[in-house]
Amino acid sequence: MSSFQDSNSHYHCIVIGNPIAHSKSPELHQAFARQTGVGLSYQRQYCPNDADSFTAVVKAFFAGGGIGANVTVPFKEIAFELCQQRGQLSEYARQAGAVNTLAIKDGKLYGDNTDGRGLVADLLLQGVKLKDATVAILGAGGATRGAILPLLNAEVKSLHIANRTVAKAQALTDLFESDKLSFSSLTALPKQVDIIINATSIGLSGEKLPFHDDVTADFAYDMMYGKPSAFLDFFNAKNITTSDGLGMLIHQGALSFELWTGKKVDMTQLGNPFG
Ligand code: NAP
Repeated sequence: MSSFQDSNSHYHCIVIGNPIAHSKSPELHQAFARQTGVGLSYQRQYCPNDADSFTAVVKAFFAGGGIGANVTVPFKEIAFELCQQRGQLSEYARQAGAVNTLAIKDGKLYGDNTDGRGLVADLLLQGVKLKDATVAILGAGGATRGAILPLLNAEVKSLHIANRTVAKAQALTDLFESDKLSFSSLTALPKQVDIIINATSIGLSGEKLPFHDDVTADFAYDMMYGKPSAFLDFFNAKNITTSDGLGMLIHQGALSFELWTGKKVDMTQLGNPFG
């Protein structure tokens, strides 16, 4: 991907965010590096919350020999704009309108988005059948937008987007122009789907999202991880198989790592990278 690694294949990477102290990315990528036998330094990079500062950080990092950067809140859209103006975008980043992975390709800044493919990879590794499945996703923010193309590529039968602000769900379905997509409010969510995914940031509020108590699925996935989830509690109480989003985090990281180093992480052998 880039010539910015030294002769001993020691890769220098960062994750840029604000705040950034909580990021698990350094531990994650060191676990990938151990498994694949590459030398890696991976730091958390704080950045003031404005586009000029972000651009300066990215420029200095790659000029100084960095090979790859992850981008987290609140910079994913700023990174998208930077790549759009001065570099290149992958199809996933273009469709997501956001960049979570930066690299250098053909001497130019390159922005990718691995979040949605991370979700799909985690679901598949957990044995969830996506081909011909009916899927509902709650939320119409960045995480949902990034998941749409990878879910469509996984050949789901239908993908319903339900959101508190219905106009945002409609805007996403309009953007993708696929007859597999539909949208509604949360309260009008279909009562039966194969897979239901929470991509809202309702988070720790402890509230259940306002969908009908009859809603059921074969599998429920919350993109959030590491915190109690009223969404997963609701489906666990119905004896429905559930998962939090830690696997999505791990898989999106592995896809970034592969882009930078060319090394594929064997997820079946990884164990708990935070353990
Ligand atoms: P975002 O762009 O801010 O979108 C937030 C969404 O949540 C919007 O659709 C919003 O609805 C909805 N929402 C927020 N509060 C709500 C409430 N009280 N009731 C109903 N809906 C509510 O956030 P995002 O970047 O898409 O992230 C969404 C979630 O995915 C977060 O929990 C994030 O941590 C998680 N995530 C996980 C991973 C991973 O690797 N596991 C990766 C990316 C994101 P409105 O449009 O009506 O405001």
